[in-house]
Amino acid sequence: MSPDVILAAEAASKRYGDRVALDRVSIAVLRGECVALIGESGAGKSTLLRCFNRLVTLDSGRVLIEERDGATLDAIVLRREMGYVPQEGGLLPHWRVGRNVALVPWLKRDPARAVRTTEALQLVGLDPGQFAMRWPRELSGGQRQRVAIARALASRPAIVLFDEPFGALDAITRAELQTAFGGLRRELGFTSLLVTHDLREALDLADRVAVMRRGQIEQIAAPSELLAAPATDYVAELLARARVRA
Ligand code: ADP
Repeated sequence: MSPDVILAAEAASKRYGDRVALDRVSIAVLRGECVALIGESGAGKSTLLRCFNRLVTLDSGRVLIEERDGATLDAIVLRREMGYVPQEGGLLPHWRVGRNVALVPWLKRDPARAVRTTEALQLVGLDPGQFAMRWPRELSGGQRQRVAIARALASRPAIVLFDEPFGALDAITRAELQTAFGGLRRELGFTSLLVTHDLREALDLADRVAVMRRGQIEQIAAPSELLAAPATDYVAELLARARVRA
């Protein structure tokens, strides 16, 4: 495998009963790259994402994280090494913002956790003095997602998994966070997988877009290539429905 591949899935398969969530999916993500997983609800996007931090255990096939077989890695250690922004943020409601953001540095017994927390809040555009002592319920939806991103980035992971991080936000807040996302990528250089059902978001934010359907990757390509040469009728239809043109 190329040394530039930081995340990979090889023939990854997963079923829930007789429902196929992933059907022999292979993908390789390069260091520093952002790959968006796009497709309709139920296509397998979240399942694929969650294989990488072992929230999902594969039936067959494997995932590789920096060339290490995911099945051989300690799941707890893996989740501390990899940032994860779940749908709806997943903040602990009975913990203040600062404690939520400090979670991973604290688990890793990082002596610099206070500094990491302050820096992470600043990175996502929240004033630590104003926000660290607030409760999640005292935040707007957009602020909550910023905190969730700060928490994922606090210990500066090389890899961050984003599961529909902006899905529940209004259009303006969503656009603000999309812009912030681009800035964070440039500043921190992490590798990311981004699940979204918004094709425009995928085309705007990602280096490559993987179109998923029925547990398989229908096409994976750079945005310009996807727009210029949709590989299947389904991809063409998806582009047409989103009214996105080359
Ligand atoms: P997406 O993220 O594209 O909406 P998912 O990966 O969440 O798709 O789901 C893929 C398929 O697997 C769907 O049919 C879904 O209903 C099923 N599925 C996912 N997670 C579970 C689960 N924990 N239990 C049962 N079925 C599941």
